[in-house]
Formats: sequence, C-alpha cells, structure tokens
Amino acid sequence: MIRQRWLQAIVDFLYPFRCLSCGRLGTPFCRRCRAQAQPVGELICIRCGQPTTIRCICSFCRQSPPDPLQGIRGAVFYGSPISFAIHGLKYGGMTQLAAPLATYLLDHLDTHPLPFDFLIPVPLHAQRLAHRGYNQSALLAAQVGARRGIAVRSDVIYRTRHTPPQVQLSRQQRLQNMEQAFAATQPHMLAGERILLIDDVCTTGATLRACATALKETGAGEIWALTVARARAPLDPEPWQNGLRPDQVFLAWDAMQQQAPTSL
Ligand SMILES: [Zn+2]
Ligand SMILES: [Zn+2]
Repeated sequence: MIRQRWLQAIVDFLYPFRCLSCGRLGTPFCRRCRAQAQPVGELICIRCGQPTTIRCICSFCRQSPPDPLQGIRGAVFYGSPISFAIHGLKYGGMTQLAAPLATYLLDHLDTHPLPFDFLIPVPLHAQRLAHRGYNQSALLAAQVGARRGIAVRSDVIYRTRHTPPQVQLSRQQRLQNMEQAFAATQPHMLAGERILLIDDVCTTGATLRACATALKETGAGEIWALTVARARAPLDPEPWQNGLRPDQVFLAWDAMQQQAPTSL
C-alpha cells in the first residue's frame, strides 16, 4: 500500500498532467485528442465566418455586416473534445491548456494569414477577472504573441459591465446584450494599427463586434477576430414561425407561398 502510494507520487512527479479527454499521461490535452477537432475550413461567410454551403457573404451579413470588424475566423468547430478543453481552461483553472489550445490559432494563421500589428484579447470584467484569477483569452493571445513575436495589448479596451450569459439569447438579443459592453481606456491610442482580436469561442460574433466598436474609438485600422472554436449560431425563428408546431409551420409557409405575388 505504502509502495503503491510512493509509485503514484513518482508518476505524478514525472508526468504531472493527464489528458482531460482520454486520460493519457504527460499532457493536459494530448495530440491525438487535439487532432480530433474539425477545422472550420473554407466554406464560410467571408465576413462573419459562419459555416455555409459555399464561400460567400451570408444573408445576415448582407443585411447587417459585422462592422467595424473586417471579418471573424474560427480555427475549429466547437464540440467534443475541444469543448472539454475550453471548459477546463475557462472554468477549471487549468491554465496549462492555453498552450495546446493556442496551437489551433497558430495552425490557422499558418494556413490562413491575417494582417495584424497587435493582438488584443477579449477583456473580462474586472470582477470576473478577480474571481477567476486570469483571462483565458489573454493566455491564448500570450501564447500566439510569444511564438510569433507580436505584442499583446491588454490595456486598450475594458469591459464596462457584467453581461448576462449569451447562451439562451437570439442573435438580435445578443447584439443588444453586448451594446456598449466594452470601452476604450484612452482614445486615439492606436493610430491606424491593425488588430487581431483573440477569444476562445465565437457563436454569433456579438462580443467580438462590440470589442471592435470600442477599438475603433482608439483609432485602430483594420480589425480581424480569430477564435479557437466556432460554435454554430442558433437559428433564429422567422417571425411567422413563433409559437407554431412543425406541421403548422409548414401550413403557414404553404399559405405564404399561395399569397406571394407571382411574377411573370
Ligand atoms: Zn487525449
Ligand atoms: Zn456572415
């Protein structure tokens, strides 16, 4: 029994980490599990980065482009096992996951170069930062910055208020929730500098867009955003679908088609 404990202590000393997905010793997120993540690839909206069936500007961006962001890019799709790793980094105190997760960002930048002079992580509210002890996006940006020799600026924008979780909100509600959630620490701080915003996950891009709006106050030039993972945005129901069962939706759609003016 004592011998087993000693052995365990030696193993723990030699291999302090276990892969949080498969349990393999030696690393917090092993190479094999990392390789399971699916790259987002080329079939995206070139503005918001949402996956699409063809490379295009999606219907949302045609109506409401993600200005002042030039574009949003995600390295891999959000899903298991990457969701475990992001959760571990964000809520589990496992800061050692920043390095393996940042490899997705670096790989993406190798294959899809973006123009930038500075990296800026999406800020946390001061209260949340004090509670968590670190900003996961800043750790990711630091990894990319160190390996690329690019400066990380965490002093340019800050979060003005706590915002309710975005999970249950529609696209429109997310935008409203994020309105003026960030501000510039000092105007005209970045005259014409090109910025790459860094975050862990992007769903609709409302957070990144709000950051970019604050960055524009600092005089920033072109602003791009890159996140480790891209979650598929929740589909907003069409107004005429609200409260209808699927069969009723079809009937309503059918009725709409009947009423639609036919053109010759
Ligand atoms: Zn693993
Ligand atoms: Zn789009």
